[in-house]
Amino acid sequence: MSKYGKEMTIGAIPVVLVFLFYIGVNIIPILLMLIIGGSMFYMIRTRGITTGSGGGGSARKARTRQPAYMTFDDIGGQDHAKGELKESLDFLIRADDIKQLGIRPLKGILLTGPPGTGKTLMAKAAAHYTNSVFVSASGSEFVEMYVGVGASRVRDLFKDARARAQKENKPSAIVFIDEIDVIGGQRQGGQHREYDQTLNQLLTEMDGIHTDEEPRLLIMAATNRKEMLDSALLRPGRFDRHIQVDLPDKKGRMHILNIHAKNKPLAADAQLEQVAEQTFGFSGAQLESVMNEAAIYAFREGEANIRQAHMAQAIDKVMMGERSDRETTLEERERVAYHELGHAIVAELVKPGTVSQVALSPRGQALGYVRHNPPQDQYLHTKRYIEERIMIALGGSVAEEMFYGERSTGSRGDFDQALQMVATMVDSGLTGLGIVDRSIVTKQELMKENAAILDGLTRQTRELLESRRHAFTESLAILLQEETLSGDRFRDILSDSLERHSA
Ligand code: ATP
Repeated sequence: MSKYGKEMTIGAIPVVLVFLFYIGVNIIPILLMLIIGGSMFYMIRTRGITTGSGGGGSARKARTRQPAYMTFDDIGGQDHAKGELKESLDFLIRADDIKQLGIRPLKGILLTGPPGTGKTLMAKAAAHYTNSVFVSASGSEFVEMYVGVGASRVRDLFKDARARAQKENKPSAIVFIDEIDVIGGQRQGGQHREYDQTLNQLLTEMDGIHTDEEPRLLIMAATNRKEMLDSALLRPGRFDRHIQVDLPDKKGRMHILNIHAKNKPLAADAQLEQVAEQTFGFSGAQLESVMNEAAIYAFREGEANIRQAHMAQAIDKVMMGERSDRETTLEERERVAYHELGHAIVAELVKPGTVSQVALSPRGQALGYVRHNPPQDQYLHTKRYIEERIMIALGGSVAEEMFYGERSTGSRGDFDQALQMVATMVDSGLTGLGIVDRSIVTKQELMKENAAILDGLTRQTRELLESRRHAFTESLAILLQEETLSGDRFRDILSDSLERHSA
């Protein structure tokens, strides 16, 4: 009965209308209401799940511009995540073997990690690897002000995945839900009924997946806030495979850069290895953007090939934002130059060879910047390492104090960074407070420790900079004139001035 319910209702409407007209009821208002109601229903439904075609089908038509399919070779780095994912997917490919052993089918794989690290790419590659259709939706697409619409979209998504797999004659379908935290956050009851219904529907659909079902269904989801997810989603039998997709290390960055350089002409001086070194902490999406921006810089200059300088500019753009046309006075520029040189001199003294550029050009919110070049990726930090980074952050304001007698508002961001690093030290038991839980330390104790650390490091920073006071003058003249100072030139100036003044 329910299968034909919709058709019977639609058929009954004209019959009822004709009957009402026959007995003399004015049916015009009813007709108008039906038209308005029908259009609203149609709009809500069509904003929901519609699918694209081929391996790159997606929940919204606007998102079908992705390539037809994606393989694991198109994903740079992530060797560990790719290996783990392939192993899990073998469960889907070798379904008969796992059934023989009585293994419960794998229903859900959760990809977790920072934005832009390639989680969507992984899900698409998984569809290609398993010869499945790929249907995707983003958590935010299920959120509507009308209760029940989200749940019906979840139903449609699964229905659509099954229908497409049958139509395309594929053995399986992968349903990918990006930003699952939007609908999969911990259920609160009461006020969040819409979210709860959507999540309940998703759980119901997952429970309805069986081993011997044809086509087989696998749900993949991505989030960068796994801790927010409802435990019902994470329990065995639901999303019980968790794969961490991390920011790439240097080797991974090199691989990603190579992938995105494939269709771009590089000049002889272009060295992707150097770019990989200078982009510690960049995601795959940011690396793609570096290559794209570098090509745009080459295009703007009318050049046929991308040079190293274009890539250096592109890194700055992705890291700091586009150059702005903010007009600054000479006095301001001079102050910014002293500030940036303060950072750079401290950096070079505590970590020789790490400054790759000092620049006086406004980018994003900053009026100048120093680009550091970490010698190698580092994930564990000692107390001295963090202290040195705090000193580099304080170098700007200390330099301003040395030459102007007072600081400016330009140090706000530096202080935020310094405070964050002090907090890391406290949480890691690297301060005089010992190993503590920050929530049970009083504010006064925290403030006292904070001040002791920052005052001590400010003193050390001042001593360092005072000992190189003469190095500021020469670098300042170049910066004011040329706007940028390369790391190598800066190091020459620094060592020359040291020799001259110690002679
Ligand atoms: P989000 O969490 O923001 O949804 P995501 O982790 O799903 O991000 P993707 O959408 O997969 O990230 O990646 C965005 C773009 O970044 C890709 O289209 C690709 O150009 C590039 N990219 C990201 N990671 C990689 C990678 N490992 N190899 C190659 N390209 C990558």
